[in-house]
Amino acid sequence: MWTFPDISISHSEGLRVGEGITLHEALGRGEFFQIKKREIGKMNKEKVKEIAELTRRLITVLGEDLTRPGLIDTPERVARSYLFLTEGYRQDLNAIVKDALYEEKCDEMVLVKNIHFFSLCEHHLLPIWGVCHIGYLPAGRIIGISKIPRIVDMFARRLQLQERMTYQIAEALQSVLNPKGVGVVTEAYHLCMMMRGVQKQESRTLASAMLGGFRTREQTRLEFLSLIEQNKQL
Ligand SMILES: [Zn+2]
Repeated sequence: MWTFPDISISHSEGLRVGEGITLHEALGRGEFFQIKKREIGKMNKEKVKEIAELTRRLITVLGEDLTRPGLIDTPERVARSYLFLTEGYRQDLNAIVKDALYEEKCDEMVLVKNIHFFSLCEHHLLPIWGVCHIGYLPAGRIIGISKIPRIVDMFARRLQLQERMTYQIAEALQSVLNPKGVGVVTEAYHLCMMMRGVQKQESRTLASAMLGGFRTREQTRLEFLSLIEQNKQL
């Protein structure tokens, strides 16, 4: 079952693991549709027109008949889809985190696991999908947990390399929180490897970015890595 991120906070004396909420529950709250409607509403009509025109050309060159009933609305659909999948270019980190940074004395590791993401590889424009695990050690400031998946989406919804995306997420958290350390691990499947090229169905790619204490303190890094090994979803 597809679940939303598990949220856990580690304490020296034990571990509290929150239950991820299921997609069904999220749909029940209507959050998913509201976000989608808002994002599509913002799309630039001019851009839809331009991408649809390019898609018409692409479909024709591929040898298809654009007047076939099944393809009539495809160019506009593709345009809206690509704009949604690259929405990250039009988002602003400060706008995402505003009003969600809190000054708190908490100095235990905060961990958000299994954040599902979808991206597009910059070499083939084919999907990369997987999960992202994030940990940070606060230094007097924490971030509203719901903002973390939005930061992941901001960098996932672009033409990407998994390694670069992983590092950009870590750097973004470093810049807004100035914590003692940040760790980001992504695990992903690349359709360009599975459908074409080497056609390796089972190969999953791991990337990590460790900043601050996650890089310099082995104990912190190992605690983070062992926590993300529990209840993995991919
Ligand atoms: Zn690729």
